[in-house]
Amino acid sequence: MLYDNLSVNTQGHLTFAGFDTVSLAETYGTALLVMDENRIRNRCREYKEAMAAYLPAGSRPLYASKALSIKQIYRIMQQEQMGVDVVSPGELYTAAQAGFPMENAYFHGSSKTDGDIRFAIENRIGYIVCDNAWELDAIDAEAARQGVCQKILLRLAPGIDPHTHQKINTGRVDSKFGVAIETGQAEQLVASALAKKNIELYGYHCHVGSQLFDEALFCDSATNMLTFTARIAEKYGYMAKAVNLGGGMGVPYTADEPKVDYTENIRKIGRHITQLCDQLAITPPAILMEPGRSIVADSGITLYTVTGTKEIPGFKNYVNIDGGMTDNPRYTLYQSVYTVHNAGRMNAAADFACTVAGRCCESGDLIQENVKIAKPVRGDILAVLTTGAYNYSMASNYNRVPRPAVVMIGRDGPYLAVRRETLEDLLTCDL
Ligand SMILES: *Cc1c(COP(=O)(O)O)cnc(C)c1O
Repeated sequence: MLYDNLSVNTQGHLTFAGFDTVSLAETYGTALLVMDENRIRNRCREYKEAMAAYLPAGSRPLYASKALSIKQIYRIMQQEQMGVDVVSPGELYTAAQAGFPMENAYFHGSSKTDGDIRFAIENRIGYIVCDNAWELDAIDAEAARQGVCQKILLRLAPGIDPHTHQKINTGRVDSKFGVAIETGQAEQLVASALAKKNIELYGYHCHVGSQLFDEALFCDSATNMLTFTARIAEKYGYMAKAVNLGGGMGVPYTADEPKVDYTENIRKIGRHITQLCDQLAITPPAILMEPGRSIVADSGITLYTVTGTKEIPGFKNYVNIDGGMTDNPRYTLYQSVYTVHNAGRMNAAADFACTVAGRCCESGDLIQENVKIAKPVRGDILAVLTTGAYNYSMASNYNRVPRPAVVMIGRDGPYLAVRRETLEDLLTCDL
């Protein structure tokens, strides 16, 4: 089994966090996202403990809530004393409505409107991660209007070498996010931020990649960010209180992908930062990290009901399900890999090679191609693993398909965290 919270019971059914997935599908209906609350909490604790042990004083993880933004996840993050980052008024509002303390929230985004900035400051957001010079002026003006001094971080593009890290484009000099260090624009932005009356510059932010299995890219971006930090300290007498290295640690989606040791990665990043700060002769600033995927992805599975199979001799086999790109667009968007099981036939040979196809009128609506599962019949339950991140948060109502329910397996068993959307819900905005 891909994860240690998966098992097979005496009926040959897949169990998740100790519960029979076929029974969960029966009780709550499909398509259904099931989340293991305990596993989410343990991952938060792993980050918190490793960062406290190996990174400079004040270092802490912030959950990147675009991975899964529902009220219950913000309640869990508050209980686990995690910070959160939000990237839109919608995420900010969800966090606020869940009672999440806004002083521990960071507001991101490369294209914030005046309205977004006003809303964030009205909600007393702890930090705004400022993307560019236009935004800096807008934040300063709005903070002045509301009579506050707003703490900000500046989003920098640390100039990660695309030759060493080919698949990475978020941290490169030509990224749409942030201002580049190597063009001198980052330094200019620092100088303007320091001159603003209603802004307190708290530090710098970058986010350079996703689905990373080791520490290498984090160390490279830390080098560039801390070298910049030291240069600014020397030239302007301004020492950053925090440097945010962003998110990006990966999870294995299939047995071919490596398991990730988060604690070990953080230990190595910490060792690198300590040496670097020694060389640069600066007091190490607090390090923030923003894991999204690695907090929730491998704590979620999606259950579907099979509506039928289609065997095209000499070509391929399809398995049709009652969901698809509307609840999980990641294969359609990025050809993301997934592990699929026939949840009710775990003891049968997984020898039926097939493409799992969604219900939308769109030939690209696939969940996975060329997977092998026990041959299903109509009514069987399919389980797609590792769907806790960027599934529900990317769900749509294309073809007017209602979004699935989200069930959490908590300490006292399963409970509904988000109810299933109804047909009536689909019409709430139609006049
Ligand atoms: C998406 C994003 C993250 C989270 O990335 P993961 O790969 O899910 O860990 C963190 N910070 C920022 C700014 C992001 O855009």
